[in-house]
Amino acid sequence: METKIIFTDSDLDIREAVGQAVALLRAGELVALPTETVYGLGANALDPEAVAKIFEAKERPSFDPLIVHLPSKTALREVTEIPDEIEKTITQLVETFWPGPLTLLLPKRDVIPDIVTAGLQTVAVRQSDHPIFRRIIKQFGTPIAAPSANRFGSISPTSATHVSEQLGGRIPLIIDGGACSRGLESTIVRVSPGPKKPLIEVLRPGPITEDDLKKFGKVVFVGRNAAVEESAPEAPGRLASHYAPRTPLRLVEDPATFTPDPAKRYALLSYRGQEKDGYLPLHDWAKVAVLSPGSGRLTEAGIRLFHLMVQLDQGGYDEIIAEPVPDRGIGRAILDKLRRASHPRKA
Ligand code: AMP
Ligand code: MG
Repeated sequence: METKIIFTDSDLDIREAVGQAVALLRAGELVALPTETVYGLGANALDPEAVAKIFEAKERPSFDPLIVHLPSKTALREVTEIPDEIEKTITQLVETFWPGPLTLLLPKRDVIPDIVTAGLQTVAVRQSDHPIFRRIIKQFGTPIAAPSANRFGSISPTSATHVSEQLGGRIPLIIDGGACSRGLESTIVRVSPGPKKPLIEVLRPGPITEDDLKKFGKVVFVGRNAAVEESAPEAPGRLASHYAPRTPLRLVEDPATFTPDPAKRYALLSYRGQEKDGYLPLHDWAKVAVLSPGSGRLTEAGIRLFHLMVQLDQGGYDEIIAEPVPDRGIGRAILDKLRRASHPRKA
């Protein structure tokens, strides 16, 4: 199959892109689309045969459920059944963060096919705030199932080029909307009533942080122990070896524990590129990539993380050594990705 890429540099291009994307979605086909988090591989979420093509193109196991993107806030009630006891909190979260990178897990209605949720009774939903995605889904008028547009287990794409490297020849169309403004996948939460105030469980850390969420309830992070996840792979989306580049990557939490093998070529993935952080002087690095040069900004590091991981992966190094970033705000999501990427991969 030939994969067409449409740019969105002018109004004319955008109209063309939106028209072709909607036509393919209506025909039950796949389209790779830009969102503010990462590129998504979209299909009509209400059409099980269209959704099956996502699993096929990504080689994604069928036990890993998809996120459903909604055309409007009101569509939330058409696809989910919100329990009365969390209705108020869900409404507050939606009013505060949508459209945006917050995904809510809620009991699904029958219109959502089982293949979308991997047979679970809950569905993950959000509304994207990417201008091109919004135009496409508005014109399409139907929810779009869209996981990240990469092959299963690889790094999520933050540019159309990266999508094309992963899925070129397997899908008919990629809409190039430029680099993603967030660069990290959405924060996924589950809300329950809790003993005193609402409980907000973060199943996947992301751009919406603990600080953003804490005024709506008690925030807890769940499932961050890779060892536990490994033994329970059916826990959706929590597979330990997610996001891994092909080049082995090692998160070195303390520089004192790094002893380079003289026969190997190492690349350093550094947070700020500062000598005083203790990683730069450790070795004569074949390459140093810096997430946020200078004083270090976590938002910038988040935007650049996957982009630099892909770049380093293509450099032919023996190993990528990653420096930790501060464990606060978006840093939590970045560390989560680095820990998963540095997990030893199975053959
Ligand atoms: P992706 O869009 O590729 O980032 O993947 C979507 C992720 O959303 C999955 O891997 C899960 O982590 C999560 N997810 C989607 N639906 C559910 C669900 N019903 N229950 C738990 N997690 C879910
Ligand atoms: Mg993914």
